[in-house]
Amino acid sequence: MADVIVVGGGIIGMTAALRLRERGADVVLWTPVGPADTVSAVAAAVWYPTGLAFDPRLLAWAGATYESFRRQAHDGVPGVLMRETRNLERDGATGEPWWAPAAGRVRCLPIAAPWTRELRFAAPMAEMGVYLPWLRDRFERAGGRVVRRRVDRLEEALAEAPVVVNATGLAAGSLCGDPEVHPVRGQIVLVANPGVFVSVRDQSDPATYVHPRTRDVVLGGTFQVDDWNTTPDPATRHAILERCLALVPELAGAPVVGEKVGLRPARRGGPRVEAEKWPGGTVVHAYGHGGAGMTLSWGCADEVARLAL
Ligand SMILES: Cc1cc2nc3c(=O)[nH]c(=O)nc-3n(C[C@H](O)[C@H](O)[C@H](O)COP(=O)(O)OP(=O)(O)OC[C@H]3O[C@@H](n4cnc5c(N)ncnc54)[C@H](O)[C@@H]3O)c2cc1C
Repeated sequence: MADVIVVGGGIIGMTAALRLRERGADVVLWTPVGPADTVSAVAAAVWYPTGLAFDPRLLAWAGATYESFRRQAHDGVPGVLMRETRNLERDGATGEPWWAPAAGRVRCLPIAAPWTRELRFAAPMAEMGVYLPWLRDRFERAGGRVVRRRVDRLEEALAEAPVVVNATGLAAGSLCGDPEVHPVRGQIVLVANPGVFVSVRDQSDPATYVHPRTRDVVLGGTFQVDDWNTTPDPATRHAILERCLALVPELAGAPVVGEKVGLRPARRGGPRVEAEKWPGGTVVHAYGHGGAGMTLSWGCADEVARLAL
């Protein structure tokens, strides 16, 4: 019998499983799909607390995650980069944003209308196509086991371990009866990288973002609440391309190399990371990270390990 079964192999389940293993637990991770078929693999995966308001727990998790990725980028972990980032605001806000203490050095610069200010900072980014397999490999090398398995009920895992981590993303809503879980649809377009290195995020509605990776650039986005449609919409693709090219004209002529849709596992009330007694054992919930799963991942993994052990 394992000490802990982590159900879910996205960024939240993977980081939690690795932290638990590092703390000496015998850990098995159950996932019905490989890393490439998770929502996490669709993410632009740039550090930024999208859609979240101040909460001391979120700030702590975001700060711990920033620091973990910063160290990993420094150590040359595959897929992890630091990117200079320009946040273009339109809402006339003044003063430090709530997340600034987590983000290293944040500079505030003047900018012409329609924007009201520019925030500049260095943000970690994880190229998930490389990073998630690296995480799985590292977990397995540390003695963790990955099993291809879907559950219909979390009790199936509780029958095989005293502690179960519920990191099932959007599926958590039905698996533990949480009506606050819902999808926020995101469509992105990928273009070949013509040589841009700075991330740009425009606080338009919907927010427009340009996130350069090693080979391609992630262009977005959409934030469609309660929309379950996973098929890319051509009109949305055109609109994203138009907005992003207006923002970063150097992208003109860059060939489109991909298009993806992901359903962000959002939760009214914010992410749920807490332990709950169930008949047969303890369930540690770790779901509902919405548009910020990468941003909160390592901080949440520490919290999950603390709750589980
Ligand atoms: C377009 C887009 C852009 C994004 N950009 C960013 C960004 O820049 N920065 C950022 O921080 N976040 C970003 N996100 C959000 C981020 O992708 C999510 O917050 C994150 O992926 C959530 O991770 P997760 O592990 O909870 O969920 P998932 O990646 O969905 O993983 C859930 C896991 O649970 C498994 N599972 C589900 N049901 C069952 C079951 N019944 N039995 C067993 N296993 C099950 C799944 O197979 C999967 O392995 C973006 C999302 C999208 C869609």
